Amino acid sequence: MRAIRAAHAFDGIRFLSGDATVLLDGDRIVGLETGRVDVPDRVEVTEYDGTVLPGLIDGHTHLVADATLGGLERAGAMPGETIDLVIEDSLRAHARAGVTTVRDLGDRDFRTLAFRERDGLPRVVASGPPLTTPGGHCHFLGGAVEGDLRAAVAQHAERGVDVIKVMASGGFATPGTDQMGAQFTVAELAELADEAHAAGLPLVAHAHSLIGMQNALAAGVDGIEHFSGLTPEGPRIDDDLLDEVARRGVYVDLTMGNDRAFHALMPAPPPQFAELMARLGIPSFDAFYLSRIGVFRRLREHGVAVITGVDSGMGPAKRHGNAWRTVGELVQGGYTVAEALAAATSVAAEACGLGGETGRLAQRYAADVLIVDGDLSLDVSLLSSPREVLVRGTRVDLA
Ligand SMILES: [Zn+2]
Repeated sequence: MRAIRAAHAFDGIRFLSGDATVLLDGDRIVGLETGRVDVPDRVEVTEYDGTVLPGLIDGHTHLVADATLGGLERAGAMPGETIDLVIEDSLRAHARAGVTTVRDLGDRDFRTLAFRERDGLPRVVASGPPLTTPGGHCHFLGGAVEGDLRAAVAQHAERGVDVIKVMASGGFATPGTDQMGAQFTVAELAELADEAHAAGLPLVAHAHSLIGMQNALAAGVDGIEHFSGLTPEGPRIDDDLLDEVARRGVYVDLTMGNDRAFHALMPAPPPQFAELMARLGIPSFDAFYLSRIGVFRRLREHGVAVITGVDSGMGPAKRHGNAWRTVGELVQGGYTVAEALAAATSVAAEACGLGGETGRLAQRYAADVLIVDGDLSLDVSLLSSPREVLVRGTRVDLA
């Protein structure tokens, strides 16, 4: 047994008043007590001036992608052993940044599944190759489905995935796909949802387009990624749609968390999107990105459950370990610090099917612990430099 004493604590839902003691035994949390409770003599106590909280969750990563431009597509053609080296590097980068769980929403050849519970590395919730249309978004990962949609889900389930990912619109990483249109009909997506749910798995849809979001919602998906609302007339997300998303309890992940210093290096957007932005008077990708913080405000007003996913690995702006940046963006979008941190911990854990296991500092939860200097309730940017990270009780080398 050992104990962590910190001046401040966030338990995954709220800040505790005053200091706190977290008792740990191996890979488990034994308890969280407020105040300077006495611990038995044999218990080693580490004291911190800062804030203790659950490790963060990145709800949308691509561990096979090395955060260089085109990395995900290159992974589609790499030998398996090379992919494994990239996966391990990606996980180490997440861990150093205080991320103790990731949900991988698109790998190659199911290779992330072997990394689900490696000692000292973040826990991985994995989808395997995302389901897509022939030639559709991310087809190079090997998940294109021709014909039998139910069989495709069943094959993934047999491989032991934790979640099914489907591409309900085109994407920016795959030239020639339609970011403003739909991949799969409502009926097809409903078939996937049905089969996934029968196998006890959630279905999460990638959707940049409004039509893709509407289709996914109507089909009964459990989560929508990106949620960009793109139409040929510009971005549009109606209040009715937000109310319906909230009513159905669908988790939304805007995949923000970019390091904006790298936006200048972004590749030119596809011509149709560049034309649209020019027509709408949106001067740059960075300006479009910033406008998305306003979407957080609306999601909160409508009571939608939002989680922190980055789409990490997709380029220099989306390096592995950026989840903390989204906490700051949520606060910019009107969330309280506690709400923003909950989106990155307890709420994200529920979305990943890990409620009861991680995302909270509470008895019987995994010892996934992050410690930062200072009072996090006053300054979320303190998350940028972790003081200590434990992954299921194992200390992460932060050097
Ligand atoms: Zn993605």
